[in-house]
Amino acid sequence: MSSTVRAAAKINLHLGVGAPREDGFHPLDTVYQAISLYDDVTVSDAETDSLSVAGSPHVDVAGVPTDATNIAVRALSEASCETRHHVQIAKQIPVAGGMAGGSADAAAALLAHDRLHDLGQADDVLLAQAARLGSDVPFSLVGGTARGRGRGELVEPIVDLGTWWWVVVPATVGLSTPEVYRHFDRLHPDAPAQPAEPAELLAALATGEPVRLARALHNDLQDPAIDLRPELGELIVRGEAEGALRGMVSGSGPTCVFLCDSQEGSMEVVAALSASYDVVLSAVGPVAGAHVVSTREAEWDLR
Ligand code: ATP
Repeated sequence: MSSTVRAAAKINLHLGVGAPREDGFHPLDTVYQAISLYDDVTVSDAETDSLSVAGSPHVDVAGVPTDATNIAVRALSEASCETRHHVQIAKQIPVAGGMAGGSADAAAALLAHDRLHDLGQADDVLLAQAARLGSDVPFSLVGGTARGRGRGELVEPIVDLGTWWWVVVPATVGLSTPEVYRHFDRLHPDAPAQPAEPAELLAALATGEPVRLARALHNDLQDPAIDLRPELGELIVRGEAEGALRGMVSGSGPTCVFLCDSQEGSMEVVAALSASYDVVLSAVGPVAGAHVVSTREAEWDLR
């Protein structure tokens, strides 16, 4: 038997970061949105544990571990799984791009394992397993548009009346999330303990109005990411000059995302940026969290 689960990339519409806590984590007040770039994770019964990772034309999987450190494999350990599995990951989410690709794979593996073995675990149980794996993993299960607090793992769905069109420009070389947080600390030695709240953004989401949302987007990690990679600042200026309502660094970067006024508007920005950038994608949000796309007998069972 095998079970395939699809999980979406996330962007942060608001990312407020406070001073580091005693446990070293930064307190966050963030608004996540799941957008239509997906990884598919298939978990199959097998005689020995194994993992395969496939990329796509725009995703280089060279940086993705193929051993037990892969977060999808760690998710199966977190699920206290004692049986053997083959895990297949098909990636469309940029690696180390600030779009929570690894977290998506972890969420997908947790759900695929649950469905494969017909465990029917309660949402709370899956969410607790997800939170132990990483700050963004609970959101990858939930999807849609949601507020994240704590270190991002305390997730609460919020009202979002929009259909938002995004242009996504990944970078060829990833950026380490811990490195961006360290640079945030250097740039903001006096950051307040409480991260900035997303009041205006929540109001904008409830109107469904793109110009208003564009004005309310906020990312405290954008300046540190641009300081480390000045070309991201140039990309944002260029995308806005080509007609995007607003460009921003996605999470800790280096992927940049551009909010557009419509699907047609996003296609125009894609066409314009494609002249200078190798990979320019369009995506819509919000989309669903991790969900089963197929459960089937393994091929060798059908013979
Ligand atoms: P986030 O936005 O959650 O901080 P990210 O999108 O910047 O994460 P990921 O794509 O999740 O970054 O990858 C971060 C690192 O995690 C990679 O450089 C890689 O070494 C490791 N990793 C482990 N498992 C995976 C996986 N299944 N997919 C991608 N990266 C993985």
